[in-house]
Amino acid sequence: MSRHIDTYVDTHCHLYWESFAEDLPQVLARAREAGVMRMIIPATDFASFDQAAAIAEAHEGIFLAVGFHPHDAANAPVDLGAALTAKAAHPLVVAIGEIGLDYHYDFSTPAEQHHVLRTQLEVARALGLPVILHNRESDADLLDIVREQQDGSLRGQFHCFSSDAAYARQVLDAGFHLSFTGNVTFKKSVLDPVLSYVPDDRLLIETDAPFMAPVPHRGRRSEPAMIPLVARRFAAARHQSVAHIAKITTRNAEALFTLDRKNGHGPA
Ligand SMILES: [Zn+2]
Ligand SMILES: [Zn+2]
Repeated sequence: MSRHIDTYVDTHCHLYWESFAEDLPQVLARAREAGVMRMIIPATDFASFDQAAAIAEAHEGIFLAVGFHPHDAANAPVDLGAALTAKAAHPLVVAIGEIGLDYHYDFSTPAEQHHVLRTQLEVARALGLPVILHNRESDADLLDIVREQQDGSLRGQFHCFSSDAAYARQVLDAGFHLSFTGNVTFKKSVLDPVLSYVPDDRLLIETDAPFMAPVPHRGRRSEPAMIPLVARRFAAARHQSVAHIAKITTRNAEALFTLDRKNGHGPA
């Protein structure tokens, strides 16, 4: 008999990042050892998508999202709608992402970001795919744009959620899921009340690797094997067991990204 471990889906990890180039097989082995059996790699542009696709094709249980991150909005092709639709035909693509707004950095102007975001939301709706949304210092505009695009069919993940409970309410009302990273474990985190506010069926877990490493790894490279540390904080804030957190976040990831119908390529 094998020992029981809780299993997870890391819904957001950038495994194509340069810092994983040296030891990706060990990173994936540690993930499985920690119960993180499936992972979603969101791209930030087409070049990173191609790198992510090569990883997903070579390893089991890895899924993809394709899109232009707000930082890269200025580099999106003029025929973004058609080009994104073509990329999204890859059989391991489960979402359009990561897309969104970021007003902290000005790698792309707000006008460029809005245009590129709208185009990608339209593609997601046309293809019936969920979206993975990045939001930094852009609460109001991001919510405005997703509401404007919401025709009842749009679903998705507000990834690395770090806003307050009032905003969480609006995001939930707009039909979206909330996802939290290792930042919930930081000493100064004020996210416990938000964590405990999210209903069981809208909660997702992620590392955002290589960023946002949970305590006690803060400041170092984050990796999917650290998911249980994030889950422990979820459990404490929500007064639920870690096993329950593993169960609901896995179920939600399977449902939102229809992972149940896709088992990943890779060697068995
Ligand atoms: Zn992000
Ligand atoms: Zn990301």
